[in-house]
Amino acid sequence: MSIVRDGFGVSEGIVEGTIHLLNWGVPEVAHSRVEEGQVEEEVGRFQQAVEETRADLERLRSQASERLGALEGRIFDPQLLMLEDAEVVDRTIEYIRENRLTAAQAFEWRILELQAQWNRTFNPMVLDRLNDLEDLHVRLLHRILGLPDPLTPPTPDAPAILVAHNLTPSMVVQFDTGLIRGIATDRGTRTSHWVILVRSLGIPAVVGLDTITQLARQGQEAILDGRIGRIILEPDQQDRRIFRGRVLQLKEWEEEVRRLATLEPVTKDGQPIALRANLDLPSEAGAARDHGAQGVGLLRTEFLVVGRKTLPDEEEQYREYRAVAETFPTYAVVVRTFDLGGDKFPMFLHMPPEENPFLGWRAIRVCLDEPELFRPQLRALLRATAHGDVRIMLPMVNNVDEVLQVRAMLKEEEDRLSEQGIPFNSGYKLGLLIETPAAALDAVALARHADFFSIGTNDLVQYTLAVDRTNSRLAGLYNPFHPAVLRLIHQVARVARAAGIEVSVCGEVAANPLGAFLFLGLDIHSLSVAWPALGEIKKVIRELRVEDARKAVARALAAGSAQEVVDCLVEGIGNSLDLSAFAGRWNLRLPPRPR
Ligand code: PEP
Ligand code: MG
Repeated sequence: MSIVRDGFGVSEGIVEGTIHLLNWGVPEVAHSRVEEGQVEEEVGRFQQAVEETRADLERLRSQASERLGALEGRIFDPQLLMLEDAEVVDRTIEYIRENRLTAAQAFEWRILELQAQWNRTFNPMVLDRLNDLEDLHVRLLHRILGLPDPLTPPTPDAPAILVAHNLTPSMVVQFDTGLIRGIATDRGTRTSHWVILVRSLGIPAVVGLDTITQLARQGQEAILDGRIGRIILEPDQQDRRIFRGRVLQLKEWEEEVRRLATLEPVTKDGQPIALRANLDLPSEAGAARDHGAQGVGLLRTEFLVVGRKTLPDEEEQYREYRAVAETFPTYAVVVRTFDLGGDKFPMFLHMPPEENPFLGWRAIRVCLDEPELFRPQLRALLRATAHGDVRIMLPMVNNVDEVLQVRAMLKEEEDRLSEQGIPFNSGYKLGLLIETPAAALDAVALARHADFFSIGTNDLVQYTLAVDRTNSRLAGLYNPFHPAVLRLIHQVARVARAAGIEVSVCGEVAANPLGAFLFLGLDIHSLSVAWPALGEIKKVIRELRVEDARKAVARALAAGSAQEVVDCLVEGIGNSLDLSAFAGRWNLRLPPRPR
């Protein structure tokens, strides 16, 4: 019997292979004290290990920058920063001197204390920092003890699926993608630094599997599907048949996607749809264009700040935004201003831990309170408007006052740029991400001050249903087809239409065929999806009719449950599209097919 485990699919792709179990950890540190006269020798040993570790990390940083790009290289900044932090370095030296501890033991104590402190905050970003701390812990201890580098990547004899409790950025950056075909871990989140690197390397990965290191055995056969977030140990005949089917399907898809890239996203009854890409990194722009994106509907900019020691300056940002704009000379590029807080914390902001970070100091609230962070971004964006249709979008806006404050700041920065003779296009658009029930219900007022709306369903669902989007235990309750969500989206779309402004959807559900059909039926003619999903959703659009969608949505709006909403949509799609091809991936409960 095969063993199936579901976690979070964080890097696309489906692979078959044998398990390579990776056990790495902290070396044993003997409990011992040194003589008074040896204390300074231990301090010297520690300081030398710090210097050696700094050199190791700098080498890894340039290796990552060369292999993957400058932004990826900065993933090592938090660890380098920790090596300059008095809380880590000076306190360890204090422990050596005050307690006559060995360098190894003093460092071990200090790290355990920091881990205990950080563990008390249930914050995903802090968890990511813990992962960095763990990496530093192992690396520095080995240097102190004069042991070989434990974080050199494993080299399985044949291509393998790597199973580990957790990984670290410095391991991943050295991975040979020819040998490590897939990754499955107990821990990890979508935003973990090592996960971001894995995505950049294109290795399929599933994280958050809890006990996969206990279940999997060395050399065992497995199938890993990074798209649906599943690993199957000891797959049986049927699993293998499904796997082969999925691989073939994916191959066919790739060919189809190449063909589709050049076709227009137009519905069967002739309604053109603006199909744009969501980008997490500016470096994804080229791939998005090659997959047929008509511009960018959401450029997330947090990567410019999270894990960085210092604020990104205006010049650097301007270069990044401009490069994306120049990739899409004839299309819109919607750049979202920093969406920090929630699960994304830059180190330099020193954000205090909060009880409810998603309901806390987040997104536009942070930007308005931190002009030193926000104003350089606004200036960089304004300057980028000189190079294309660059639009500015504000995250998690809840009231008109927030928009007015941003407009006033923009006006001041425009005046400054004009005084300095720096070019920008004063006709740029400022839009709002509608992500809270408050914004949706107050859309009439907000529409008076916005040039466009984009509906961020990922957060809108979380806030409407009071279901934490990062809590895997609640995944079954996180339902974008809940009638309450549908009504809010309907309201936003109606208001935008009446106000004559564009409305689009950029949450994950836009890439779901039922979601796309729903939005067509709500007369939303602009969708933005992660670039790997562009081909698929274009195919979906080209096979559906707006007329059918409108009728289905009229029925869905009267539905009393999420399943009823889904049933109306499935019925409305009828034979236009074979939904069974998507059912597994999207967890759709389809009615039995008529014989
Ligand atoms: C959303 O909330 O739907 C969205 C697009 O933003 P993010 O997923 O970055 O919060
Ligand atoms: Mg959001």
